[in-house]
Amino acid sequence: MTDYEATYRGFRWERPEYFNFATDFVDRWASERPDAPALQWSDEAGHAQLFTWSEVKQRSLHAAQFLTSLGLRKGDRVFVMMPRIPEWWFLTLGCIRTGIVFMPGTPMLTTKDIRYRLLAADANGVIADASCLDRFEGLVGTGRVETWVAVGQAPSPWVVFPPGGAGTGQHGAQFERTRADDPMLIYFTSGTTGMPKMVQHTQASYGLGHQITGRYWLDLTPEDRHLTLSDTGWAKCAWGKLFGPWSQGACNVVYDFRGRFDAARILRVLERQRVTTFCAPPTAWRALVLQDLSQYDLSSLRHALSAGEPLNPEVIDTWKQATGLHIREGYGQTESVVVVGMFPALEPKAGSMGKPSPGFEVSIIDHEGKEVPVGQEGDIAVRVKPEKPVGLFDGYLNDESSNLVSFRGDWYVTGDRAVKDADGYFWFVGRRDDVIKTSGYRVGPFEVESALLEHAAVAESAVVGVPDERIGQRIKAYVVLAPGFTGSQALAEELQEYVKKTTAPYKYPREIEFVTELPKTVSGKIRRTELRAMSQQPPKKD
Ligand code: ATP
Ligand code: MG
Repeated sequence: MTDYEATYRGFRWERPEYFNFATDFVDRWASERPDAPALQWSDEAGHAQLFTWSEVKQRSLHAAQFLTSLGLRKGDRVFVMMPRIPEWWFLTLGCIRTGIVFMPGTPMLTTKDIRYRLLAADANGVIADASCLDRFEGLVGTGRVETWVAVGQAPSPWVVFPPGGAGTGQHGAQFERTRADDPMLIYFTSGTTGMPKMVQHTQASYGLGHQITGRYWLDLTPEDRHLTLSDTGWAKCAWGKLFGPWSQGACNVVYDFRGRFDAARILRVLERQRVTTFCAPPTAWRALVLQDLSQYDLSSLRHALSAGEPLNPEVIDTWKQATGLHIREGYGQTESVVVVGMFPALEPKAGSMGKPSPGFEVSIIDHEGKEVPVGQEGDIAVRVKPEKPVGLFDGYLNDESSNLVSFRGDWYVTGDRAVKDADGYFWFVGRRDDVIKTSGYRVGPFEVESALLEHAAVAESAVVGVPDERIGQRIKAYVVLAPGFTGSQALAEELQEYVKKTTAPYKYPREIEFVTELPKTVSGKIRRTELRAMSQQPPKKD
């Protein structure tokens, strides 16, 4: 994209009748560039494996044959739980090829989480890595699950993939064609605000839709080596480790780590693997910029990207000073592909999410569905009438109450609040439930958190509204201190003064509590709901 406005105006969605990501994209790359790298895998122990497009095609054909030989058919639902091992890509592509609907789950899920997912989605099968099998104890017999596939050794009823070590599929294997609107996968949302919701995507909505993510936002070409930090259970993996890069023929660089996130190791991987484009969630970015970046050769990088939560301008500045690259944000949801993005052709503005993606009409609306004026806060909404953008889901499965809240007139309402400026850039304010109403003002927690983060003593913080009889809600900050600092009344006052000086004074946190860590989802998002529950106490009268 060299001219944002022209691309945005000229864009039309393809709406084919039949579509299959495996045959239409992967097999195309396998015939055009059979020996080019498609999947570059490595792990913490230093093992590495490279798969070409031709190998990825063959392995996924083999996986498709294997799954159908077990009796799984188009439309069946399988729950998939694996660390970042190559088999995740072969088996999910095998599902896509045959129309088996896969439902990714992070390896961090507990037995209770898995049971909830198997029952909620009425699953027919499970595919799990041997390292996850302890979490399935007692689950055989759950709901309608009949097929149990293990990657690695496992006792009956688990069937082992790949059987007998065979690794290639036959040429010419045929599977029933998939229609573009056939279901392809089901994600459970991150569960940041409540129980995860089930989001179903069709072959087209994520398979075709993520061309927007891969082509325009990640800006990928077949020469790129892309790394997105995400485990296999989240939509971020579909965005950046499957459909985004592979729709563009880029090499997908996968680093399989199992323990805690280690910022120094990730920087080494970027250096060693000559990664050209890199996407990470804000929680990772905040840790990456604490490293001495001058110790790493990051000269192969052309793009740095962030999605999943807002990214603090302070982090963007630090990274830019060290590498010359502006971390470009992308806004979207499990429900969608990238909907608003800081596209490479846009003049970056630190702290803004950018402008609407080609193919999406995105507006800020009020509760009646009317667009609000420039500079005014409202709901981020995507126009779905007369035609829904291809890269957006159809609605939550088995959850009419969420659908009622999310579809308002001509709009899909995201649940997030933002402001659009006079240049058409979007500025994230907060999730609807997180916005604080204090003394007649509305304050997004992110703004206060970003101001706090600029102070040297603050490593991370989360800001919530606590009920207050006098002013509605008072702003409270939970602060994790940077190494070398200890919490004290004096430091709390210093931070309050600091925020008063860097933002409007009414935004300063009247209460500060020092904590050693913040409650987060397993994907690393701050759970402000939990902090609000913790801070519920009888309102203070002063
Ligand atoms: P749940 O819906 O279960 O509460 P979740 O909303 O966190 O969980 P996801 O679909 O993983 O589940 O995340 C999408 C949400 O992440 C968006 O609605 C938005 O709140 C936030 N988000 C994503 N990208 C950005 C961004 N660039 N800036 C700010 N917020 C973002
Ligand atoms: Mg959500």
